[in-house]
Amino acid sequence: MKILVLNCGSSSVKYKLFRFPHPRLIEKGLIEKIGEKDSSVRTHHEAIEKVFSDIKKAGFIKSLKEIEIIGHRVVHGGEKFKDPVAINREVIREIRKNIKLAPLHNPANLEGIIACRKILPSARQVAVFDTAFHQTIPPFAYIYALPLELYKKYKIRRYGFHGTSHHYVAHEAAKLLGKPLKNLNLITIHLGNGCSISAIKKGKCIDTSMGFTPLEGLVMGTRCGNIDTAIVFYLHRQLGMSIESIDILLNKKSGLLGVSGLSNDFRRVKSAADKGNKEAKLALDVFVYALKKYIGSYIMVLGKVDAVIFTAGIGENSRWVVREATKGIKSMLKDSPKVLVIPTNEELMIAALAYKVVKTKGTT
Ligand code: ADP
Repeated sequence: MKILVLNCGSSSVKYKLFRFPHPRLIEKGLIEKIGEKDSSVRTHHEAIEKVFSDIKKAGFIKSLKEIEIIGHRVVHGGEKFKDPVAINREVIREIRKNIKLAPLHNPANLEGIIACRKILPSARQVAVFDTAFHQTIPPFAYIYALPLELYKKYKIRRYGFHGTSHHYVAHEAAKLLGKPLKNLNLITIHLGNGCSISAIKKGKCIDTSMGFTPLEGLVMGTRCGNIDTAIVFYLHRQLGMSIESIDILLNKKSGLLGVSGLSNDFRRVKSAADKGNKEAKLALDVFVYALKKYIGSYIMVLGKVDAVIFTAGIGENSRWVVREATKGIKSMLKDSPKVLVIPTNEELMIAALAYKVVKTKGTT
């Protein structure tokens, strides 16, 4: 059977088509600039129509009916979704409710789902949430030390993101180590444009660095990660910055870009640092130091660590980061952990999870 995986962003739709049950990538593509002035694709509905017509044109399938399952990446599942789910009206209502938690992502995810229901109603649709893998985190790790009312009334808590990627590499690590995931303690580190780290105990996520939003935690391409929250008040009161401009500063102008003043792209910053650029070198040191602190604290949280796993653009390619961030780790623990580099494949994980949902539960 064929499984289509869709990742609907605010102005783009990425897709991959797989053959199952023995997974093989058949085709992939990207529709960009949805709704932009010079674009022929005005809405997500039109983008999904184009995905289907491109797939047909490529000639790998005779009829769209061959696509039996569509797996959707949905960014925010809130507290409701702890696992991937077959999509029905109730699920759509819940995803809509979570728009306030992910105003940039969930609306586009939802539009993709609704378009698919109209264009290809024969396909079974499954939602796979970025937050779901982190739903096993215990309350003492997801509650912020704010008045508890803010959690109870407004659901302000740690959710964590990149869950599908952390789950996938943990799964692959278990295969490499030849042990069931439920017997392993792992630290998984996703270093792309966004960066996050998770502590996995006996196969279940017990902590992760991203929080209520993807701004918390590690230093990233353009995001600052952890800072003293009072800096926000200072920027507002002393420098007269508006909340909107502080939001842009912390999310889009900080991280590697902010410190280096050069780029959010790790490769550019690294090559400038190698040529002697002081700010670029400082940006890399700040990046790796934040990472080392998290690895150290997760070792303490887990006690025993079987493997530390690096993934995504930086994690998969920069030996320098892997070496610097894990220096000294072997002497810290009695049984020293393996350091692994595993390429992530979120789309394949979404396809596999969607397949499992349909095979085990069917859809409504
Ligand atoms: P996204 O989060 O957008 O999926 P990626 O996982 O593609 O991002 O990661 C992007 C980051 O990976 C960029 O900072 C880029 O510079 C870095 N990167 C890509 N290739 C390499 C490489 N060969 N060496 C070091 N960093 C790399």
